[in-house]
Formats: sequence, structure tokens, C-alpha cells
Amino acid sequence: MRFISTRGQAPAVGFSDAVLGGLAPDGGLYTPEAWPQLETSEIRGFLGRPYAEVAARVIGAFADGEIPTELMAEMCAEAYGTFNHQAVVPLVQLSPSAFLAELFHGPSLAFKDVAMQILARLFDHLLGRQGRTQTILCATSGDTGGAAVEAFRGRRNVRLVALFPEGRISEVQRRFMTTAEEPNVACVAVAGTFDDCQAIVKGAFQDPVLRQAVDLSGVNSINIARIAAQAVYYFTTAVALGAPDRPVAFVTPSGNFGDAFAGYAAKRMGLPISRIVAATNANDILARAFAEGRYARAEVQPTISPAMDIQAASNFERLYFEAVRREPAETARAFQAFSTAGAIDIPPLAHSTMRELFTGVSVPEDEVRRTMVATLNQTGELIDPHTAVGVAALNRCGDLGWPAVVLATAHPAKFPDDVAAVTGVRPEPPQGCANLARKPERYDRLPADAETIKAYVRTFAEA
Ligand SMILES: *Cc1c(COP(=O)(O)O)cnc(C)c1O
Repeated sequence: MRFISTRGQAPAVGFSDAVLGGLAPDGGLYTPEAWPQLETSEIRGFLGRPYAEVAARVIGAFADGEIPTELMAEMCAEAYGTFNHQAVVPLVQLSPSAFLAELFHGPSLAFKDVAMQILARLFDHLLGRQGRTQTILCATSGDTGGAAVEAFRGRRNVRLVALFPEGRISEVQRRFMTTAEEPNVACVAVAGTFDDCQAIVKGAFQDPVLRQAVDLSGVNSINIARIAAQAVYYFTTAVALGAPDRPVAFVTPSGNFGDAFAGYAAKRMGLPISRIVAATNANDILARAFAEGRYARAEVQPTISPAMDIQAASNFERLYFEAVRREPAETARAFQAFSTAGAIDIPPLAHSTMRELFTGVSVPEDEVRRTMVATLNQTGELIDPHTAVGVAALNRCGDLGWPAVVLATAHPAKFPDDVAAVTGVRPEPPQGCANLARKPERYDRLPADAETIKAYVRTFAEA
């Protein structure tokens, strides 16, 4: 399988290069030349199989022989063995027609673990095979960093620099990153927003001098292996609820649009998904794009669902590329314009194509809080603010048909103060996370200045 850039100015590459490269050299995002296809009978056969087996098959369809089947199976078994639930992604019923798919049973208590645990193993293997060491630079709105640190710490062929917006993530989120002792990990508190961090990372990848000096890579949600890994739970969940013989609707709490786009990937691979609701908090760029046909940046507002405080959803470029019938020149034009002018007018035909599958819903803060309380009262489930955005969006949509699944993206114990303040119930951390609060922290603080951070990355990589 070959992977092409959404902007069409970079050569097509195989799975290994797409994974290790992160962003394509022309600034575009790698996407499969043709979406891998799974037969309906094979999808039906996923019913009751271990999560790791389905993962090996779905991710293997992207790797397409570049990773031996047995090794892929081993890596998936190891990756999903770190989860503290046997189902890996268990379902919980909320109402006659609505379910939660709990994606938060991994080591850092957020759905990012699902992709990151397998990604780290893929990286270490692919780099070891090529005799290379890479430095991974990632921007985190809170959860990617913790998941990346958990997955990459102590790995032999990888160093990791995680940038996070200072003061805009929860203490638990920060501690998942900053308490790692392994010297291959560096964490940086940036005096700015997540979008600033992400822009600095994008800039670093496009800096030929830095790239000459440092073998740089990314694990942000633009990495195609993350999309592949996230498509897996759409399959396991939908099949548990009657797919492929019945379509399933999903509500996905969204920020960078990686998770929701993974649902699109699953659909293109053959899974009958009737609708994907991209649920956002007050940072509503996606909701506005789907409603109005204009993808336009706005000021980032801090919310109690900080992992979604994003006003530039990088994976949206992948959907745009598909919706303009894979026209790379048009995609490049649009997203170059977006990076300078901050807005794209989506062509009407592309907009209606997007709306065939996607609905965008933005949920204001007071409604997120009310939903956390109501869900606890009506179902006994304590949900975190990100998941609550999804549940509130489902309520706003009314009937999506049977069944509808809300992706539960974080464990409530990852946001204990906000959850306790809103619901009056303090969530208990699962076993193993309890002594996080007592470990010493280690991180550096830098201004939101691209040159300063690039120099830091270079020094760390060369140390
Ligand atoms: C990252 C994250 C999201 C948003 O996912 P995207 O793939 O960026 O859209 C939602 N909830 C939580 C808890 C997250 O960590």
C-alpha cells in the first residue's frame, strides 16, 4: 500500500515511511492511495474476538506486508495488554438506544493510549530495523503528551519532546508527562495556547535546517498509524452492536478531528456507519464548518474539556481532500490560504459530501456541566467533561437511530477537580495511578517562540 500527501507535492511512500515521517515533506498529510477494504463476512467475524486480534487485522491492512503478520499480532497483544480492562474498549449502556464506548482504560486514562501504545512499538521496531534514532516532537492539548510519554519512555530508538500550553491542562494531565524519569523524554511548558504549540511543531517540521540536523518525527493525530489504530474501536464497537448487518451512529468528542476521521476511515473500509457527530465544546471550528461551509479559525476559549480547546483541527485536511475528490492542488491551495488567512470557504459540493456522513455540534460549557450531573442521576455513570460534550451532542441531535455510540474519551479521574466541582462526586483513580501526585516533576518552561523551541529540540536531540 502506498500513501500519498493531501497536497500532492511529495512522493508516495510505503507504510514505514508514512509512519516515521509524520507530516509529509510538502506540509500535507499522508493518506492511503486507496482505502483498504474488508469483506462484510470478515467484519461480521470480528464479533467476540479479542480486541488485539481485530487491531492486528485492521492496522495490518494499512501496513500491508511491511510488518510481518505475526509481529503485528505480537505488538498489538503487548500494546493492548497494557490496558486494565479485558475488553480493552468496553461498552456501557446509557439508555435504550445509547451506549458509551470507554476508550480510557489505558495507562494515561485517555483515548490517546489506544493509538499511542501501538504507535510506540511500531516506531521502535521500524527504526531499529533501519538502524536509526529519531526525535519525536509533539504538541499536546493535554492527553497526547501523557499517552506519548507512557508509550515512548525508555524506548531505545526514540527521543520524545512534548510541548504543552502552560496552565491550560489539568494537574493530572501534566503529571502523566512530567513524572517520567527516563532520560529519553523531555517536557516543555510553553507560554501560549495549544494552537501556538501546534504551529511551532508544524514550523519545525518545515524547517530544512532543523530537519538536516535532527531526524525528526511526529506522533500527533496527523500520523496515519494513529488513524489506523483508532479505526479499530469503531469496528469492535459497531460489530458488538449488530454491524455489519445494522448501521451504527457515532458521536465523537472532537478537537483535532483525528478520532472522528478514524470513523470515516472505518466507513471507507467497509463498516456501515450511518452518521458521525463531531461534538465540540465552545471551540466550535468543526461545528461551524459542517453547519456553514466555512472552516474559519477563532479565538481559543479555555474550557473544562481542555483536550478539545482547539480552533484548527489538523485532520480536517484529510476530509477536505476526500471531499474535493482527492484534488491535491485544491487541497494545497485551501490549506495554505488557511495558514495565512485563517479561513477556507468549502466548495458547496464538497460541503454537501461532508454532510452526508458528518454533523457538527458545539456544546456550551453550562450544558456540559448539566449533562455530567444528569448522566450521573439517570444512569449512575460518572463521566468526564470531554465525554459529556459527546453525550450532550447526542441529546441535541435527538434520534440518531438504534444504536448510537458516544466515544468516552477520558477517565473522570483525569479531571478530578472539575468532575467533583460539577457533580459533587470525586472520581477515584484506578489502581496504579494513585501515587502520581507524590512523584517529583521534571519539565522546562519556554516562551511560545519557534526559534527558541527549535534550538531546545536540537540541543536535546544532540545530547
Ligand atoms: C484528544 C482528545 C479528544 C479529541 O480528539 P481528536 O482526535 O483531537 O479530535 C477528545 N477527548 C479527549 C479526552 C482527548 O484527549
